[in-house]
Amino acid sequence: MQTFSDLGISKDYIKALNELKIIKPSKIQEAVIPVLLEKRTDLIGLAQTGTGKTAAFGLPLLHTIEPDIERVQGLIIAPTRELVQQIKKQLFKFTKYIDKRIFAEGVYGGEKIDRQITRLQRPTHIVVATPGRLLDLIKRKAVDISRVKTLVLDEADEMLSMGFKEDLNKILKYNTADRNTWLFSATMPQEIKRIVDTYMSPDAVRITTDKNDAINTNISHHFVNTKIQDKVGLIARLLKKRRQDRSIIFCRTKAGAKNLAQELENQGFKVGALEGDMQQKERDKVMRAFRKERIRVLVSTDVSARGIDVNDLAFVVHHQLPEHLDYYTHRSGRTARAGKKGQSIALVIPGEMQKVLELQKALGIKFREMVV
Ligand code: AMP
Repeated sequence: MQTFSDLGISKDYIKALNELKIIKPSKIQEAVIPVLLEKRTDLIGLAQTGTGKTAAFGLPLLHTIEPDIERVQGLIIAPTRELVQQIKKQLFKFTKYIDKRIFAEGVYGGEKIDRQITRLQRPTHIVVATPGRLLDLIKRKAVDISRVKTLVLDEADEMLSMGFKEDLNKILKYNTADRNTWLFSATMPQEIKRIVDTYMSPDAVRITTDKNDAINTNISHHFVNTKIQDKVGLIARLLKKRRQDRSIIFCRTKAGAKNLAQELENQGFKVGALEGDMQQKERDKVMRAFRKERIRVLVSTDVSARGIDVNDLAFVVHHQLPEHLDYYTHRSGRTARAGKKGQSIALVIPGEMQKVLELQKALGIKFREMVV
């Protein structure tokens, strides 16, 4: 697995990232960070919120700042007050343990401008701003963006649909020659393409992620201490308690899946088994029953679950922990879709706690014990 150090993030930041449980780089972070650290370039990132894009541009931006030079070197424009505050807060947290302080200031409409003018009189390396308020502050000479080295436009499509087009054009017209522009947007309407063509380099690096790359913070991870011979009983109690919920129980082997499905059926549970040897017709039948909620529980191996499009689950159970990290992520990623909460529940037998700790470390997640 790649770490933030591997991507080139300096060690000063790693401790703060660990504290924020930002341990395993997200897709967009993996793609963007090495590029932005390696060279000065323009960049276009097609990315939604929730993918970790703030850190993807925030960390490289912090790396470009020279703390000894007390002027605005980085400028981030975002559509709303809330987003400005969020970005500023993240930057502040990232810099908790760095040697020389880097100061970021957030300015937005809806707060008394005088207070912001006063704050901007302190040394400020990075300004995070909504477009209108920034222009107001420039007009009053409270802020000077003429020597900004990096301009970040966050949620550019959102800014346009909120009517900030003229304001953005004014901001973009400053010092285009020695500045790099990093533009992030969830969509690429014509208006954004025009901004790209007008103000950005034709060599701009382009990075695309999709909504499946979102970091899911709605999944909670649990382990249950048990013994091999108690696993079936435990699963039975769990299913009884959560009769209305849809779930998948993952087994490591075909034989394991078959046995478990059989034992649960013997106890009167309606479950659907998916295993590699099945005919397509049988698989379809199981999946139809699951979709129509005639059965709410599937028992499956990792391989068999691969082809099925079932994501809307309340929980998944790991009858055994998977051998690969990626499998754990795939399994648990089937819960907690569309903003709902979901649980990933691992059955752990004596001697397996080490594995849980390894997963925690490698995936940057936290397991809590659950008693069934
Ligand atoms: P964003 O897409 O930048 O709004 O980030 C969404 C949330 O994910 C924020 O709360 C971040 O702190 C968090 N986050 C960012 N990167 C990671 C990561 N690599 N691992 C876990 N959480 C992250």
